[in-house]
Amino acid sequence: MSYLDQKVAPKREERLGTCVDFGGSACDLKKSFNGGCLRNNDRGFCQGSICQLLPGLSMLNTIPDSVVIVHGSLGCGGAGHSQSAAVRGRQILAGSTNPRGTLWLSTNLNEMDVVTGGEAKLAEAIIEADRRYRPESIIVVSSCVPGIIGDDLDGVVARIQPQVNGVILPVHCEGFKTKVMATAYDAVYHAISRRLLEKEEEEVRLIPDELEEAAEKIRRSRQVNLMNVSSGTPGDEKELTRLLNALGLEVKIFPCFTHPDDVKYAAEAALSISTCPTHDDYFLKYLQEKFGVPYLLRYMPIGIKNTNSWLREVAKFFHLEKVAKRIIERETDELELALQPLRQTLKGKKAMLSAGEVRTLATAGWLQELGLEIIAVRPYHYDEFGEPALDKLIEHDPGLQANVGTVQPFETVNIIEKNKPDIYLGHNSDNIWAAKSGIPVLPVYGGPNTYVGYAGAFDFARNINRVLKNPSFNQNLMKNVRQPYFKSWYTDQPYKYIVQGSEDL
Ligand code: SF4
Repeated sequence: MSYLDQKVAPKREERLGTCVDFGGSACDLKKSFNGGCLRNNDRGFCQGSICQLLPGLSMLNTIPDSVVIVHGSLGCGGAGHSQSAAVRGRQILAGSTNPRGTLWLSTNLNEMDVVTGGEAKLAEAIIEADRRYRPESIIVVSSCVPGIIGDDLDGVVARIQPQVNGVILPVHCEGFKTKVMATAYDAVYHAISRRLLEKEEEEVRLIPDELEEAAEKIRRSRQVNLMNVSSGTPGDEKELTRLLNALGLEVKIFPCFTHPDDVKYAAEAALSISTCPTHDDYFLKYLQEKFGVPYLLRYMPIGIKNTNSWLREVAKFFHLEKVAKRIIERETDELELALQPLRQTLKGKKAMLSAGEVRTLATAGWLQELGLEIIAVRPYHYDEFGEPALDKLIEHDPGLQANVGTVQPFETVNIIEKNKPDIYLGHNSDNIWAAKSGIPVLPVYGGPNTYVGYAGAFDFARNINRVLKNPSFNQNLMKNVRQPYFKSWYTDQPYKYIVQGSEDL
């Protein structure tokens, strides 16, 4: 059911029963989640989690011809500095010779605003952003302070919209409201759907004459929405577009780096294809409900098996199974040949992983296929979208250790100390703790690499092999830095602070 008639998207704890606190076996994780036993889990001690504003801004800062106004205290927008650099880097990698980065402003609420309210400052910031930059859209992101003092974000937007040219998108991303940072994806899609798609519904369906209508119908019958994620790279988009083009499909990519004027085309596709189920379900269900666009939302195409399943599912929808079979045979034959020398060095090496739920679990599956031993998976959260990938891991290793937590570095270092992995693959916010523990690390997204499809499968194998060849940098790093934990913590039980079914919630 779409939640679009509500001002604010629900948090994932409520919508999906998403869990962020678990430590134990992967089998227990699956059983406990399906039995509804993880809803009230909590941590007695929590360290270095991620506020939903961060992934929210990492999507919003990619929208071209827009200004992002962070409504809150100045620090809440701090991620804008690094994200602007990341967006510029991404634009360069995608071939831009004039990378623009992002335009972001802050309403810079102070102590006095907490008492008197921040609505006047917000109205002023919106008018100023429109006057200075003349953007196509003005994205207003609410953080904790306005959420706590009760600023009426939607009321300000409704009042100011007639005075400005840019479409204003109110995004509710208050960090204190949820422990599941993936709630941000829903908050962003909620705003995009309500402000950029709902008003375009009639326009999308207008077609001038019968001949054009027939031609348009044929074109749309082969047009697909390929959902990207802010953590996806140009290499990822190129690889998946290549595979879909090989099926004869025309690809439009949403929502990151999509111009606000072009979002309406998402409503006219024959099919929406997710690249990460945990990222896209909110939007794809809405597109189906409102515009009748069916969707595929089961696999993240990481590794050979997942990419094969992802491609087969798309092909089945268009009755192109035979074409897909030929593509899969050709791609896997070539890939297996290239992987042969790498498989020998990777076999038996121990790996540990952390990131968003599907990325972690799907990447772990690929490493198992490559012959590595997975000692632990640390998804940032867990819910129904993790199950298909988790099932594959359990099938391979029923005793696999699973630790659900958003960063929580004290648990990371404890598990590393006890299991001594050969390599750690994660977000940079996790990798740093493994690096300081002397373990070679590799990012699981971002930069110039490719992570998905057949090209991504090869890139992973090649990069792991390269990193394992010379671990001396991290070993030296460990000798020259100090971790902030007592020695006794390393002999303690890593999940001792996870409370089952906390009464406080
Ligand atoms: S938790 Fe609240 S105050 Fe902190 S960065 Fe997130 S929105 Fe801002």
